[in-house]
Amino acid sequence: MKFNSALESIKTYEAGKPIELVVREYGIDKDSIVKLASNENPFGCSPKVKEAIHAIVDNMSLYPDDSMVKLKTALSSKYAIQNNELIIGAGSDQVIEFAIHAKAHAGSKVLMNSVTFAMYEIYAKQVGAKIIRTASREHKMDEFYALYCEHKPSIVFLCTPNNPTGDGLLAEEMLSFIEKVDSDTLVVVDGAYMEYARFKNPSFAVEPRDLVEKFDNVLFLGTFSKAYGLGGMRVGYGIAQAPIIEALYKVRPPFNITTLSLEAASVALEDEAFVQECIADNFKEMARYEDFARSKGIDVIESYTNFVTLLLPEEKNSSKIAQELLKKGMIVRDLSSYGLNAIRVTVGTTVQNNRFFELTNPLV
Ligand SMILES: *Cc1c(COP(=O)(O)O)cnc(C)c1O
Repeated sequence: MKFNSALESIKTYEAGKPIELVVREYGIDKDSIVKLASNENPFGCSPKVKEAIHAIVDNMSLYPDDSMVKLKTALSSKYAIQNNELIIGAGSDQVIEFAIHAKAHAGSKVLMNSVTFAMYEIYAKQVGAKIIRTASREHKMDEFYALYCEHKPSIVFLCTPNNPTGDGLLAEEMLSFIEKVDSDTLVVVDGAYMEYARFKNPSFAVEPRDLVEKFDNVLFLGTFSKAYGLGGMRVGYGIAQAPIIEALYKVRPPFNITTLSLEAASVALEDEAFVQECIADNFKEMARYEDFARSKGIDVIESYTNFVTLLLPEEKNSSKIAQELLKKGMIVRDLSSYGLNAIRVTVGTTVQNNRFFELTNPLV
């Protein structure tokens, strides 16, 4: 059978390996597997979320509230915006899909960093758009601006802090780039790790409200999958001026968020103290990764997220090391498919991190 030819150049997204797969492939006991591959919060979500979900578990027969008023109101009040400046997706991934489907088409150009979140390219290729990438590993706004002037892309993706590298972009530099961009170019600011950046150094964080007040062509993305510990619930959001949100609504399927997920995300926002404690712990533990790397002479990219990217010396092959770790039940992310001889490790609990150091020490 022939499929849409746009699919031919798409490489299927490789998600972090689930624990179940490692149990099956390597016969390792489920409880001794440590997954530090998908930047999930090792402490999970607020206990209040679990209580709230138990309380509504008998109400599964009705469709969810498609206006999502409870979650939207909670988010609007957190960010001091209006409900009509918000769209909720099944993960911010889905909002990326909406944005590309609403704005790009065959032949459109989409500009992104050389190394960045893989889904931008996948969704862009689905509509036949052309991918333009910068040269540097880090977001360099002068490179973005030069390519913007040359190609006049319909969409620009800025991922800050960036995944899979963890580095941050100064908010000021990003804003002065956006100011120079024509209002018909959609600038997507992916803030999946913004909570971590805001904690570590607010100069590397951007407030969605400031973007929405100032620009009619910016879409900010946030997610409940990382700091809020709700990756399994699939909830993310987009914040932009109302005309952008209205366009995204045209490509949204109805009832895209389940009743349980809406409740989980709404209640998670009521327990910011939990999230802040997790973030504080994250940076305390991250310092141990930096010490480990230093003691081994390995370069580590300064991270504004909940993961560290270890740049391995040439003679230590990242795929091999990730594979060796996997055999021992430690799941990390090999970055060779991004053109980096590096592994990305989510900062876990103290016990999980100890295990990582213990298993990795003889390999590097
Ligand atoms: C994790 C992640 C997302 C989206 O996660 P969802 O689970 O779909 O909300 C988006 N962008 C980046 C950079 C991410 O790391």
